[in-house]
Amino acid sequence: MKIDRVTVRMIRVPIRMTRKHGVGDISSSISNVILELGTDGGLIGWGEASPWTVFTGTAEASAAAIDVYFQPLLLGADPFAVNELMQRCDKAVFGHGDAKAAVEMALLDLVGQALGAPIHWLLGGAVRMEIPLSVSIANPDFAADLELAKRVHAEGVRLFKVKTGFTDHATDLKRLEALRQTFDADMDLRVDYNQGLEAWDAIRQLKDVEAFRPTFIEQPVPRDRLDAMAAITAAIVTPILADESVFTPADAIRLVRERAADCVSIKIMKSGGILPARRIAEIAEAAGLAAYGGTMFEGGIALTAGMHLVAATRNISLGAEFYTATYVLERDVLASPVRQVNGKTQVPDGPGLGIAVDRDVLKHYTVEQRG
Ligand code: MG
Repeated sequence: MKIDRVTVRMIRVPIRMTRKHGVGDISSSISNVILELGTDGGLIGWGEASPWTVFTGTAEASAAAIDVYFQPLLLGADPFAVNELMQRCDKAVFGHGDAKAAVEMALLDLVGQALGAPIHWLLGGAVRMEIPLSVSIANPDFAADLELAKRVHAEGVRLFKVKTGFTDHATDLKRLEALRQTFDADMDLRVDYNQGLEAWDAIRQLKDVEAFRPTFIEQPVPRDRLDAMAAITAAIVTPILADESVFTPADAIRLVRERAADCVSIKIMKSGGILPARRIAEIAEAAGLAAYGGTMFEGGIALTAGMHLVAATRNISLGAEFYTATYVLERDVLASPVRQVNGKTQVPDGPGLGIAVDRDVLKHYTVEQRG
């Protein structure tokens, strides 16, 4: 099997709700990159890069990374050589984990289809085929978010992650109080600061937040302040989860060495794909840290890649935020939508990613195409 076509599309998809995170607010649409690998045998592998400007970079740069730098490495290559091809991509371009994740998932999609095996088989088989869904509360219109929370709670969702630090501390406490009052113990509440606190005042504010019994507090301070992350982890009873501080396996080792968190958020868009993400989850496991399945603003293609990872990786036990395609995007490019049943994401079990793309929807949202 040889790759004989590399098509890169940038899509822009309107969203149904405003997302505010302190930085990098999303108000009208998201821009992702869709990768299509064609082969001489007629199989098609799909990939998606979902960067976030303030976190991993821009969709424009990711489209160029794939089209200009990865395409020549992929054309004519055997998709079974995933490790070798990803090593060549790593050598060709620094960073751009989201673009590399798109390439890797498209390769694994082809390998799985060729073998008749879902990607989670390639990772050793699933330990879970249903993944507890975490929905993020990130709308500056909190009344709208409370309605969303009630709706998805009725659908079985129990994990809620509140984005804090983009408004003032008193308002954050009121939002947490309102959620606890509404759902009492019948919710698993988490808090994510997206680096929003300053190190000098973080512990005081987090001690107030602990009154609402969060399961974890995510990335309270800037990514490079591992010293402050360590001080907070030591001072606060609630587990501290590192997100922006950990992109690579080497970052995970540093986090463990400096005891700078109790858990870690695993995102294929940070790590550059499923395989490096898996290494981070395993480093965390060996160090006694739990792992959580994070996302950026992925559509169904990349979300599905994440599902195979979480399905097959036992240490990613804190649930996963596979909700964008279901609750945020105007419409997803998958012909069969991501399945959420009773608050749990259902992992597909077809060959490769186990997805089909609706080409009409893809065309509708495409703003630029190369190849
Ligand atoms: Mg986060």
